[in-house]
Amino acid sequence: QAKSAGRNALRFFDTAMQTAVVERARLESDLRQALENQEFRLYYQSQVNAQGVVVGVEALLRWEHPVRGMVSPAEFIPLAEENNLISPIGAWVLETACRQLALWARSSATEGLSIAVNVSPHQFRQACFVDEILDILAHTGANPRRLKLEVTESLFMAEGDTVRARMEALRSEGICFSLDDFGTGYSSLAYLKRLPLDQLKIDQSFVRDVLDDPIDEAIVRTVIALAQSLELEVIAEGVETQAHCQWLYEHGCMAYQGYLFSRPVPVGALVVERQAACMRSIAASAP
Ligand code: C2E
Ligand code: MG
Ligand code: MG
Ligand code: MG
Repeated sequence: QAKSAGRNALRFFDTAMQTAVVERARLESDLRQALENQEFRLYYQSQVNAQGVVVGVEALLRWEHPVRGMVSPAEFIPLAEENNLISPIGAWVLETACRQLALWARSSATEGLSIAVNVSPHQFRQACFVDEILDILAHTGANPRRLKLEVTESLFMAEGDTVRARMEALRSEGICFSLDDFGTGYSSLAYLKRLPLDQLKIDQSFVRDVLDDPIDEAIVRTVIALAQSLELEVIAEGVETQAHCQWLYEHGCMAYQGYLFSRPVPVGALVVERQAACMRSIAASAP
């Protein structure tokens, strides 16, 4: 009895696994075609300062699959990394973002905006990464001072010197670096001393419960203090409510990104005017 139940369970597990494997293989082969079929879209989410001014945006990749609809980057970026597709996809993102910067440079309402582009560790480790960026900047005419690269702690776990040399090369062109998802990785804090970073990005998992969970509150306070003492900018991601924004402001975090201001949207839907309504209570409490 028990034995046959076990066998059935195993068979069920087998079928489920098989389905998952087939699904995945299908998604992989679709992903291979996605660039060619022009299925990628670049969405933008505004980043706002303590005066409610939109100072920049983060570029967030979307895959508009002909059958599945929008596929989340959380799903396809890891797949792209495993299949050596992250470099061509990443190059498309950089190219698209830099073209956008060049367009924005033509109008006074948008010329000051920066774009933050996520760069995966695999992409950063490609030998041609620096040259590729310089080439994209050159042929799009984008101002490197408006380009920010978001990297994660996992990049710093190995190959410290190569990574630093590349960052320095890009930084000497005016590009800046933000450390995304700060505090969620496994690396030591020693790299903060060695690497040329400009900004720390407080991960949304800490921001979310900052008002209710004393541990998250302690972490966010500490990250802000760390950024201040290292003279790094600090930005909070996942800012969803006025109360969160207010708390962050009162604790010294002066830049915000989150649904409170805008979801990631196609470029045509981006609002670059001052986010006055959201900032009213903050302005009221400003010294
Ligand atoms: P990330 O870089 O940490 O991006 C922030 C994520 O938080 C985005 O998810 C964004 O839509 C979401 N978000 C923003 N504000 C809020 C908020 O107020 N509440 C909540 N709950 N979420 C918010 P998204 O767009 O699904 O991207 C997920 C991740 O995929 C990104 O995390 C990034 O690691 C990766 N990714 C996205 N685009 C690219 C890309 O072009 N290249 C690479 N290598 N990775 C990318
Ligand atoms: Mg990011
Ligand atoms: Mg993040
Ligand atoms: Mg994240």
